[in-house]
Amino acid sequence: MTAEIIDGKAFAAGVRARVAARVAALRDGEGIVPGLAVVLVGDDPASQVYVRNKRKQTVEAGMRSEEIRLGAGTAESEVLEHVARLNADPTIHGILVQLPLPPQIDTPRVLAAIDPAKDVDGFHVTNVGRLATGQPAMVPCTPLGCLMLLRDRLGNLAGREAVVVGRSNIVGKPMAQLLLGENCTVTVAHSKTRDLAEVCRRAEILVAAVGRPRLVRGDWIRPGATVIDVGINRIEENGATRLVGDVDFDAAVQVAGAITPVPGGVGPMTIACLLANTLTACCRLHGLPEAAELTAAL
Ligand code: NAP
Repeated sequence: MTAEIIDGKAFAAGVRARVAARVAALRDGEGIVPGLAVVLVGDDPASQVYVRNKRKQTVEAGMRSEEIRLGAGTAESEVLEHVARLNADPTIHGILVQLPLPPQIDTPRVLAAIDPAKDVDGFHVTNVGRLATGQPAMVPCTPLGCLMLLRDRLGNLAGREAVVVGRSNIVGKPMAQLLLGENCTVTVAHSKTRDLAEVCRRAEILVAAVGRPRLVRGDWIRPGATVIDVGINRIEENGATRLVGDVDFDAAVQVAGAITPVPGGVGPMTIACLLANTLTACCRLHGLPEAAELTAAL
């Protein structure tokens, strides 16, 4: 028996189509166009690609896209001025500062300057605290996408044994909070975890967000488990560059019940959830009902 392959690419296309339909209805019915601003500082090549994709998909969803590109040597005060202007701009509903920022800029200070209502990345401490205390929050896009895939495959997650490998602020910790919110029994593993293989074998839901190519072996996986592989690792293999996840896919697919591939699993969900978050922020800022067709997946 081989695992079902969870098609994140197709699922993300569905989310984007639902966002686009609601955006069209908002424009036609209320005269409101959701706007997303992305601030990019410096010339990190991976960030350039992400920002280009975000812009393309924002426009395709019918939203307004504003891009602020600043040189690598930009002073923190200038970045903060842009954030303040975007906070005050009523045509902008989502603000995303692309990370990583150059070393002269204090990242927590910049994230703290974003209006929490427009914080579509969900990294502001107010949103982190809201998520942790079960209040309506802007939820970080990658874990939100993972949860949508899990809910789609498994339905009610209550009581399930979930293991999250990785405890970063952008993936591991919010993922654990979301799964706790779904009433899973959650274990968070990290680089100091003893006997990681044994911890992983407990998991009915295993989320790997580590950044180590194929760290999770096939025999670490509980038979029938649902495996969500967040990792995006570029490796050289047989003279070619390829992308692999944090899970040894070829081995895991023989054991798991379902698994996300890399690429084509979690990756496409991240931008789809960014668009969904921008739409949600727009509805909240205008006091309109939230797009139930998006949150219905949750
Ligand atoms: P990160 O900030 O580097 O965090 C990695 C986490 O993994 C840390 O908590 C670290 O533990 C843990 N870890 C490292 N080595 C380990 C080991 N040998 N055993 C157990 N735990 C270990 O990474 P991240 O930003 O969360 O990203 C994780 C992966 O997801 C990366 O491959 C990244 O490219 C990918 N990613 C994908 C998307 C997407 O859209 N699909 C979005 C974001 C990230 P300590 O805390 O103890 O150091």
